[in-house]
Amino acid sequence: MREHPARLIATKRDGGELTAAQLQDLVSGVVDGSLSDAQLGAFLMAVCCNGMTQAETAALTLAMRDSGSVLRHDHVARPKIDKHSTGGVGDKVSLLLAPWVAAAGLAVPMLSGRGLGHTGGTIDKLAALKGYRTDLPPARCAEVLEQCGYVMMGPSASVAPADKRMYATRDVSGTVESIPLITSSILSKKLAAGLDGLVMDVKTGRAAFLPREHDAIALMESLCSVGRAAGLPVVALLTDMDQPLGRAIGNAVEVAEVLTALDGQGPPDLLEVTLALGVEMLLLGRVAHHAEGARELLLRLLRDGVVKQVFKHNLELQGGDVAVLDEPQRLGRAPFVVPVLAERAGFVVDVEPLLLGRSVVDLGGGRRQPGDAVDPLVGVVVAKVMADAVVAGEPLAFVHARTKAAAEQAHGVVAAAVVIGDERRRRGPLVRRRVV
Ligand code: URA
Repeated sequence: MREHPARLIATKRDGGELTAAQLQDLVSGVVDGSLSDAQLGAFLMAVCCNGMTQAETAALTLAMRDSGSVLRHDHVARPKIDKHSTGGVGDKVSLLLAPWVAAAGLAVPMLSGRGLGHTGGTIDKLAALKGYRTDLPPARCAEVLEQCGYVMMGPSASVAPADKRMYATRDVSGTVESIPLITSSILSKKLAAGLDGLVMDVKTGRAAFLPREHDAIALMESLCSVGRAAGLPVVALLTDMDQPLGRAIGNAVEVAEVLTALDGQGPPDLLEVTLALGVEMLLLGRVAHHAEGARELLLRLLRDGVVKQVFKHNLELQGGDVAVLDEPQRLGRAPFVVPVLAERAGFVVDVEPLLLGRSVVDLGGGRRQPGDAVDPLVGVVVAKVMADAVVAGEPLAFVHARTKAAAEQAHGVVAAAVVIGDERRRRGPLVRRRVV
């Protein structure tokens, strides 16, 4: 018989430790509705204030995983490795990384989310590709994974349903910023996706979900140790989110940037972060045995056009417009594309990612409310990045807007976000730390 939830909540409130069975009871109550919103909010706040042991976090993660269906991909012989990012501005890594590592022999059953706050979401970016479906039935997903080495799936109501209610309650109860709750939220979904290994891209910097580096490192350590305890090998990289990643921020403009990257012409920071994550995925999947070999293999696959072929195959299988590879203009263009010009000469000393991410949301490229529609064509494309020299009157960025008024409003924000100074300043390292 289940214990009364109030007693379990009080145990956590008083700094006690819950058993795996007690945590399972609580999670069952989350899913069957017997745990009220008040009780769930109180439990989450108690965890947020008092933390959880690693054993508790692992037990909570497993209970959340088991709250819904757990996918298996036994029909796929390749190692099944995914990457998950804590989210950033201009972070289109998944779109490039999945075909890249699939070309190298991994299977990537990628479960992606929608944009959250100022950070974009892979599912919204994929929606900019006409016809592309991320809601395929499970049997079709399995076929796509087997045939091209990766499949991009949207959030499914049947995978870790406990997380859905817990996340929504955290969002409105001031309990998002808890390392055990973030860990169990991320890992429960990844464990349910039937993976052999996971590479985490934990962002740090102003536009990161956890901006302070020591919080991000604590999350990396928690993800790796709880992953191991739950039977999922996890490697985490700490990567820079103090500047946008790449130059494009918005949905179609980011897809366009990925298309250039598939031709080997992508922005260096995007390539470097994607490559670093790809190397870790190949090592985890034992497709490569040392980092240098993994890097060389990945670079060769990109250079030889194999990654683009895999991307094309996936587009065909998931219903996307394949012609976009040769004619990127088929992605469409916002009605107003307005340059933001430099008012003085000098060097770009900062490109403020939070301002740009919020500006794209204001343009309609992200959501303020969960039900909002997202405009695929709006966004900001930065023409000058940190350390670039600038001549007065040169374009610093382009605003892609639906209306003239929206373009004018974004213009001021973007002008403030790209800062020009007198001395050249270099961006810090893109990959700051690795936790295994
Ligand atoms: N991403 C998730 O899926 N869950 C969290 O709690 C935070 C980021």
